[in-house]
Amino acid sequence: MRENLYIAKNIEDALRQRLENPKESKFLAGGTNIFRLNSNPFKTLVSLQDLKLNTIKKSKDGIKIGAMTTLQEIVDNSLVPDYFKEACRLCKSKTLRNMATVGGNLNSNIDTSYLVPTLYASKVRVEIAELDSENKVNIENLPIREYLENQSRFKGNLILSIIIPKDKRVVVTKTYRRSSQAPSVVTVSCGFSKNSSFRIGYSSSSTVCQRLEQVEKKLDEKSYKTIDDLYKDIKKQVKVKEDYLGSKNYKKHLIAITVCNLLEKEGVL
Ligand SMILES: Cc1cc2nc3c(=O)[nH]c(=O)nc-3n(C[C@H](O)[C@H](O)[C@H](O)COP(=O)(O)OP(=O)(O)OC[C@H]3O[C@@H](n4cnc5c(N)ncnc54)[C@H](O)[C@@H]3O)c2cc1C
Repeated sequence: MRENLYIAKNIEDALRQRLENPKESKFLAGGTNIFRLNSNPFKTLVSLQDLKLNTIKKSKDGIKIGAMTTLQEIVDNSLVPDYFKEACRLCKSKTLRNMATVGGNLNSNIDTSYLVPTLYASKVRVEIAELDSENKVNIENLPIREYLENQSRFKGNLILSIIIPKDKRVVVTKTYRRSSQAPSVVTVSCGFSKNSSFRIGYSSSSTVCQRLEQVEKKLDEKSYKTIDDLYKDIKKQVKVKEDYLGSKNYKKHLIAITVCNLLEKEGVL
């Protein structure tokens, strides 16, 4: 049951409201996840609608996308690289894209996430705010890798923005599903710059986004002699679960063959 809707006046106000009732309150962005069927009940929703976090700007570090920016606003913006728009378009319903926000998507980090593998492969940075021991707003800017590895530590923090780095990166993402509205079986995203600094993120139904750290290292060191070596190694490293969308072996094959095809097409191997 939801009893209160509180419209936060500013970042500090939002954090304070959330902190007052950490177990029974939640931030409210587009609401597309919070209001899904069978979602958990929360007594208080702290709306972020008035925080002016829905802008897309060039900053000294890259393109800064406010957490309240919707997936459709990203698709319509000329500053955002095409690969990033493609990831937003994995959400096929325009109605949903008009409501769903980038901050809500990252915080939710679900197994069939539209954005998280691409956020990882593009090496975005995440700006988050918390209240310190003196109740002052403290803003941290950290790599997406660190955010995803320690997400539980940031519970109750407010995502302010994600920053797409200005270094030129090739990022390619592919998803498999039975129809455009069905949940994805796997989503794979590969990113690199000047044939190094590889990042490979994958999510699969029942498994939230993971990285292929050992494979990334070996690609950086140019250790793979053939595509077949890469395929076999990825199959070994990938961790997935069997469920109604497919067996472990099927998902492992999809992820391995997709990374190989994407990297071969980009001339990496
Ligand atoms: C029919 C349907 C199908 C869907 N399928 C998919 C799918 O396949 N893949 C997918 O990724 N998503 C899917 N979604 C979920 C959803 O549309 C997206 O994940 C969306 O991006 C969530 O954003 P939101 O703004 O609606 O978040 P909300 O629902 O408002 O919030 C989601 C969570 O994030 C928290 N939150 C929101 N903003 C912030 C912030 N700035 N800082 C910290 N915490 C925050 C909230 O407290 C809440 O816990 C689906 C939704 C529906 C209704």
